[in-house]
Amino acid sequence: MSDVLALYRVQQLELEIINHTKRIKAINQQIEDDEALREAETEFEAAKTEHEDAAKRARDMELEIAALMEKRQASESLLYSGEVNNPKELQDLQMELDSLTRRRDVLDDELKRIVTERDGCQQKLQESEANMEEARIARAAENQELLEEKAALTATINEQLTKRKAVVKKIPADIYKTYNSMRAKNSNRPVSVLKDDACAVCGIEQNSVVITAINRSDDIVNCQSCGRILIKL
Ligand SMILES: [Zn+2]
Repeated sequence: MSDVLALYRVQQLELEIINHTKRIKAINQQIEDDEALREAETEFEAAKTEHEDAAKRARDMELEIAALMEKRQASESLLYSGEVNNPKELQDLQMELDSLTRRRDVLDDELKRIVTERDGCQQKLQESEANMEEARIARAAENQELLEEKAALTATINEQLTKRKAVVKKIPADIYKTYNSMRAKNSNRPVSVLKDDACAVCGIEQNSVVITAINRSDDIVNCQSCGRILIKL
């Protein structure tokens, strides 16, 4: 393997490692970001609060009706007890009884409405709980796949690092140093392929001096335009 070809091989391995590392970062991000599950959990919490509120209102209404019934029972007992003989008092009692009866009818209707609402909330609560469970299961399965992909990528990266190390060993130190110093300013691509007599990265056609130099020897030849190390494959 010529030095330039070895550099090109190192560059290929490095670009692959960079891509795999990016994918691992994206996987980590995806595992952290569980928007669908969080949305399902929020919906469940909201349905739970709504149901609790409706259930409490139903209980309060039942208590209010029970208290009213008790009061009505007391008035009725008094009315028929024979203890009250004054016609005005009797009339007042009867009127109170009628008023309590009307009030009970109103509260009964109100209770029916609240119970219907509560039952609706109950239904909604069960549905949102089922959705949340489903989202959790889906999330776990998805995470499992992502973690497997991440493990495979990590193993591949380690293999590529080993290969890279082996190739680097064959490259003369000064040439490798030059390559390294060129990496940052060339977007990790200091080596460019000569394709149809042009640099594949910048697209500039090379003059005959450059072409001849590449064809003649294994020496480092740079692109006339971008300065990258040229290789003819
Ligand atoms: Zn170039």
